[in-house]
Amino acid sequence: MDEIWKVTVWGVRGSLPRPSPACMEYGGNTACIALEQKGHILVLDAGTGLLSLGQALASQKNIKRLDILLSHFHIDHVMGLYAFPPFFDPDREIHLYGGTGLARYLETLVGPPFWPLGIHGSPAKVSFHEIQPKDSFCLDGLTVCTMAGNHPGGSLLYRIDGSGKRLTYALDCEAGGPVFSSLAEFARKSDLLVWDASFTSLDLRPGWGHSTWEQGLELGCAAQARQVLMTHYSWDYLDELIRCQEMQAGQEGICRFAKEGMVITL
Ligand SMILES: [Zn+2]
Ligand SMILES: [Zn+2]
Repeated sequence: MDEIWKVTVWGVRGSLPRPSPACMEYGGNTACIALEQKGHILVLDAGTGLLSLGQALASQKNIKRLDILLSHFHIDHVMGLYAFPPFFDPDREIHLYGGTGLARYLETLVGPPFWPLGIHGSPAKVSFHEIQPKDSFCLDGLTVCTMAGNHPGGSLLYRIDGSGKRLTYALDCEAGGPVFSSLAEFARKSDLLVWDASFTSLDLRPGWGHSTWEQGLELGCAAQARQVLMTHYSWDYLDELIRCQEMQAGQEGICRFAKEGMVITL
């Protein structure tokens, strides 16, 4: 029987949070998306949006285990780990997945002198799992595959399959050049492709490791994705600018623009 996948957007910004009144329509928290299925929660990136997810989980004590997949260690993708409420709950089991140096980098970043508490001493049971591009592993009935993103310092893109559904998460990735065809292959027939729509085509700079919504649309079409969710908006883009992009993209049936609190069911 098909299981419903519930995808919740908790953070939509790239680089830095933007808690400004002019950014509240789309949201000011950095990258975080949760996929819930069969009472299991898989989290994609741990930006400041993770804190809202942590608060929402306070009333869901039945969810004991959380799996958090990190695309990379840039600060906008890990900032939510500083005060993530489930770290303080001895009944929770938290599994963190990321590239080489995962435990060392996170313990450094989320420990003294940068922060008073380290992850290591958390009341929750925390495990670190180092993964590499082209890895494939199973998580509670889901298959997770990874691909190297085109990003300064590298990033991991994720593809999640299960119950006949597919979600591809491709943030912090520059679409141009030879990587496009591998991306299209990786994301092939995704029910949802979560895409790095950081910049307008005017602001886009080669080598910064980011992309535009137009590239997401092109990729989504090439990959025959059913929906493309644009997110990771540049921190200095106000709602007005993102709304303009969304209106432009409105003609294209497969594009959606992420807003905090948005829920997509697959
Ligand atoms: Zn980022
Ligand atoms: Zn990055």
